[in-house]
Amino acid sequence: MNFIDLKEQYNRYKQEINRTVLDVLASGRFIMGPVLTEFENRLAAYIGVKNAICCASGTDALLLSLMALDIQPGDEIIVPDFTFIATAEVVCLLKAKPVFVDIDADTYNINSNLIQQKITHKTRGIIAVSLFGQCANFDKINKIARHNNLFVIEDAAQSLGAVYDNNKKSCNLTEIATTSFYPAKPLGCYGDGGAIFTNNSKYNEKIRILLDHGQHEKYKHKYIGINGRMDPLQAAILQIKLKHYDEECRLRTGIAQLYNDALQGLVKIPVIKPGNSSIWTQYTVRSKKREIIIKHLKKNNIPVAIHYPIPLHKQEAFSFLANKDSDFPITNTVCKEVFSLPMHPFLQKKDIHKVADCIKEALT
Ligand SMILES: *Cc1c(COP(=O)(O)O)cnc(C)c1O
Repeated sequence: MNFIDLKEQYNRYKQEINRTVLDVLASGRFIMGPVLTEFENRLAAYIGVKNAICCASGTDALLLSLMALDIQPGDEIIVPDFTFIATAEVVCLLKAKPVFVDIDADTYNINSNLIQQKITHKTRGIIAVSLFGQCANFDKINKIARHNNLFVIEDAAQSLGAVYDNNKKSCNLTEIATTSFYPAKPLGCYGDGGAIFTNNSKYNEKIRILLDHGQHEKYKHKYIGINGRMDPLQAAILQIKLKHYDEECRLRTGIAQLYNDALQGLVKIPVIKPGNSSIWTQYTVRSKKREIIIKHLKKNNIPVAIHYPIPLHKQEAFSFLANKDSDFPITNTVCKEVFSLPMHPFLQKKDIHKVADCIKEALT
């Protein structure tokens, strides 16, 4: 059993992917160009947003968004304490300050009730992560932001395609949203890649310039930018995978349902809020007996992972922020109890039963 199965996915789409890769190789065009533009247009249409801007990674997508918002040294940006480090790392790269907020014990997303009390005269915005595949509470987060004149970025690296509040879509809930096409994400490329989504034409224009060395015309540089371009090979591969993405998400949902049924009562299963869907980037459960369960799963050759073992406020890289450990009780507990089970569209029913039986065994 594999934790994710990129080989099986490649086998299924092999002919289409090989053909498109060979077309790009034959075109001789390896930076920017029509293949990239076409994928951006498809991606924007898929989300229903005006602009999708492809870039070199999910991390660059976040960095470019903050650069477009003109973040200055000393600005404070509110972020969840429980996420992949990139969400807060980019804030520090611009010499701004990430202000960590504890999470909701059910969804593992930022606890929107704790945001207001962290806002100071230096706060510029909020980056909320839609963790494991389900959107954060953007109704509340956007309301707080409007009230305090802050921007909101959705870090949708794990939620591309998720539905929020019945009919809204992840990546189209905030002025800027970002995603990642890292191979292990549900829509992954064959290397690094990312995208930024916005309905705002000013941000669209500025981000496109920033990701190409701040260059608005050949060798004319309007801003200090970066080399943050996506290459057309990745765009071509992603365009094939995007065609199959809804079907894959449907399969993931079926697998999550099987897990839910089999694991109910054994561990704390994921909580999806009414009106929301998850794209199940991770199927993450909680148990006080995590170590015993993981040991038994590994003994039976079932791969597991921990997303994430250490809260951001406890990372050495952020020790200079001198956060108070007691401010983050939920993240502290969750980091000790969560673990993620194999999740990909091609898992079989028997795999899920094997995982569930193994967990049952570990607990008896
Ligand atoms: C994967 C991920 C990122 C970073 O994406 P890369 O493409 O690896 O740079 C950022 N935020 C979250 C929540 C992620 O899961």
